[in-house]
Amino acid sequence: MNYCVECGGRLAEQWVPAEERTRLVCQHCGYIQYLNPKVVAATLPVIDGKVVLIRRGIEPRLGTWSYPAGYVELGETVEEAARRETSEEACLQVSLVRLLDVYTSPGGRVVVIAYLAQCPDGQPRPGSEALEVGLFAPEEVPWEELAFPTTVAALRDWVLSARPGADLARAEEAAARSQRLIFH
Ligand SMILES: [Zn+2]
Repeated sequence: MNYCVECGGRLAEQWVPAEERTRLVCQHCGYIQYLNPKVVAATLPVIDGKVVLIRRGIEPRLGTWSYPAGYVELGETVEEAARRETSEEACLQVSLVRLLDVYTSPGGRVVVIAYLAQCPDGQPRPGSEALEVGLFAPEEVPWEELAFPTTVAALRDWVLSARPGADLARAEEAAARSQRLIFH
């Protein structure tokens, strides 16, 4: 981001005393360009005790597994976005069961809001941005091939909700490898 959306002037890193931090500030009109994380809505659709994951057909992390997720559009509720993304990416019409949790990671650029979802009569199929869809029991989660630290964290929570006391050694190893994830 190089230019001011208000006047087209050049933006530059500048110390803002009132906020006690550096911001992108327009050198012409003083407009402050705030940089904030984007909101991602996600679902963990569960069919017969197995979670629906999609293998990503786009960068970043092409070829890895994640749940259906995408950016919330302006004017859309997070719930609507979660259902829409699930329809687009896994061709599933889901109803949301409950909020699983909210996920962020240090240095990350998104806030992931993830819902548990059910699919009354769904047969998942890969959407245009997915290479394939898969159904995974708690014991079958492909920890080493998950897309992001937030993906590991959300699936860890799902496994714990489905199998209290489950052995999560592989999940912890995957998280340690990413080196950015903080488990609470
Ligand atoms: Zn300006």
